[in-house]
Amino acid sequence: MNIENFAGENRHHGRIEVICGSMFSGKTEELIRRLKRAKFAKQNIAIFKPKLDNRYSDVDVVSHDHNSFHSTPIDNCADILKLSAGYDVVGIDEAQFFDDKLSYVCNTLAFRGIRVIIAGLDMDFRGEPFGPMPSLLAIADEVTKVHAICVKCGALAYASHRLVRNDKQVMLGEKMEYEPLCRNCFQKAIEEDKRNALSKDLFEDNNL
Ligand SMILES: [Zn+2]
Repeated sequence: MNIENFAGENRHHGRIEVICGSMFSGKTEELIRRLKRAKFAKQNIAIFKPKLDNRYSDVDVVSHDHNSFHSTPIDNCADILKLSAGYDVVGIDEAQFFDDKLSYVCNTLAFRGIRVIIAGLDMDFRGEPFGPMPSLLAIADEVTKVHAICVKCGALAYASHRLVRNDKQVMLGEKMEYEPLCRNCFQKAIEEDKRNALSKDLFEDNNL
């Protein structure tokens, strides 16, 4: 992985960069790092994120280590088109929560000469591709997959395992609710969850 090998801080060089990975993999930190470099290069930067993510603050892209950048919460990703006029670089955080129109939006921005940097979860807690991320990965000029460390064995993490029982795809997480696991440990954990769910259902059905 050579993450410094972009066209760099050139003005009016339209492109799409996607930073993806599991929870706690440093996606937002990497987004902020690239945005900081663009800012040093005197680029005009706009940052957007979906409105539903208000874990820490309504106006900032905030990563888990509280390294923050001012951002605009957006309901509908099509609004990014209107709000991006005059900017050289557009950052989008938590992109997995936007709908499928996001790839059209990002392509349009890139064709306008804007550098678009997207950070998002590649997979949900079931290990399924998350929201618009598969399309974004397909149309990206460059993809960077970042990794957390598996909390069970220390290998590179592959997915975010949910520690509480809840079937909703969107459940905003903190360290208490998710753990990064490698593929092997994720598979074991999912199988164990299924066994536990089965025995819990049996338990409830039989009123034991
Ligand atoms: Zn592991």
